[in-house]
Amino acid sequence: MLVVMSKQATSEEIDAVVAAIQAKGYTARPIPGGERTAIGILQNKGAVDASYFLGFPGVRDVIPVTRPYKLVGREFQPEGTIIRVGNVSIGNGNLTLIAGPCAVESEAQCLTIAEKVKRAGANLFRGGAFKPRTSPYSFQGLGEEGLKILARVRDETGLPVVTEALDHEVFDIVQEYVDVIQIGARNMQNYSLLRRAGRSHKPIVLKRGMSATIEEWLMAAEYILEGGNTQVILCERGVRTFARHSRNTLDLSAVSVVLKESHLPVIVDPSHAAGRRDQVIPLSRAAVGVGAHGLMVEVHHIPEEALSDGAQSLYPDQFEVLCSQVRSIFDVFEP
Ligand code: PEP
Ligand code: MN
Repeated sequence: MLVVMSKQATSEEIDAVVAAIQAKGYTARPIPGGERTAIGILQNKGAVDASYFLGFPGVRDVIPVTRPYKLVGREFQPEGTIIRVGNVSIGNGNLTLIAGPCAVESEAQCLTIAEKVKRAGANLFRGGAFKPRTSPYSFQGLGEEGLKILARVRDETGLPVVTEALDHEVFDIVQEYVDVIQIGARNMQNYSLLRRAGRSHKPIVLKRGMSATIEEWLMAAEYILEGGNTQVILCERGVRTFARHSRNTLDLSAVSVVLKESHLPVIVDPSHAAGRRDQVIPLSRAAVGVGAHGLMVEVHHIPEEALSDGAQSLYPDQFEVLCSQVRSIFDVFEP
C-alpha cells in the first residue's frame, strides 16, 4: 500500500502518517519525490484499511501496490531514479558507458585500457579483481592488489571504477576501494550478499542471473532497497537458452519490460551475452535502441593475451566505433 501525500502536506502531517503506520505494526518508508511525498507501507501481512489513512490531514490518495516488489516498482516511485557517481549521472535521460577488461591483470594493462576507453567516451572503468570462474584452475583475479590498481586508475584518469564483490567476506574491502560494486549473475540470489549490499552507501550493479525471471531479478533488487540502499543499477547480461551461436541470449524484451516496471536504471552487458567480439557492437546498438540507460562492455588492448574473456573483448578502436554509434542512436530519443 502506498499513501500519497498532497503537494502541500507539511512535514508534521507526513510524520503523523508515519507514526500511525508504525502504530499498526507496519514499517513506513517515506519516498520523497519531485512532486509529492509518498509513504510506503511494508511488512503488512494482510490487507491494510485504506480508508483509515485517507482520514489523515495531508493525505491525497491511498494506492494498493499490486506487485510483489514494492520499493523497486514504478507504483511506488513513478519517476526514474538517477544515480550519481562522481560527476556521472546514471539513469533517466543519460546514457552511461562502462568499459574495461574482464579482469584486472596489471597496472600497466589497466592504465593503458582506461586511457583508451576514456578517450573514446567511456564514463566509468570496469575490471574484475575477484573473478567468478567456472573452473577453479582458471585465473581467479588479483584480489586486493587488483583493487589497489583500480583505485590508481581512478586517480590517474578521473574515471570512477566498478568491480565485483564475489562474496560477503570481500564486500568491505571492495567497498573501500571502488565507486560502484557489482553483484554478478551467479550471485543474484545470494541473499547474504544482497543484504550486505543493502547496508552499503555505494551504488550496486545487480546483474540478472542466467536463469532468473524478471520477477526474481526485481525481488533480488528489492532486498537491497529494503536494506536501505536505493542506488541499484540493473544489468541484463543474457540468459541461458538452447542457442549455441552465442554464449547467452541477450534478453532485450526483458529490458523493455523492466524499464516499465521499475524506476531503477537498466543497463546492458552485451559482452557476456554474446561471448564473441563480432556481436558486441550490433547488440549494443539494439540495447540502446530498446531504451537501456547504459552499457557495460569488455575492452582489452591485446585480447589475444587476456587472462579471461579475450574472445568477447573489443579492441579499443572498436569501442570507439561503438561509442559514436550508440550515442547517435540515443540522441534520436533524447535529443
Ligand atoms: C563480469 O562482469 O565480469 C562477469 C563475471 O559477469 P557475469 O556475472 O554477468 O557473468
Ligand atoms: Mn568477463
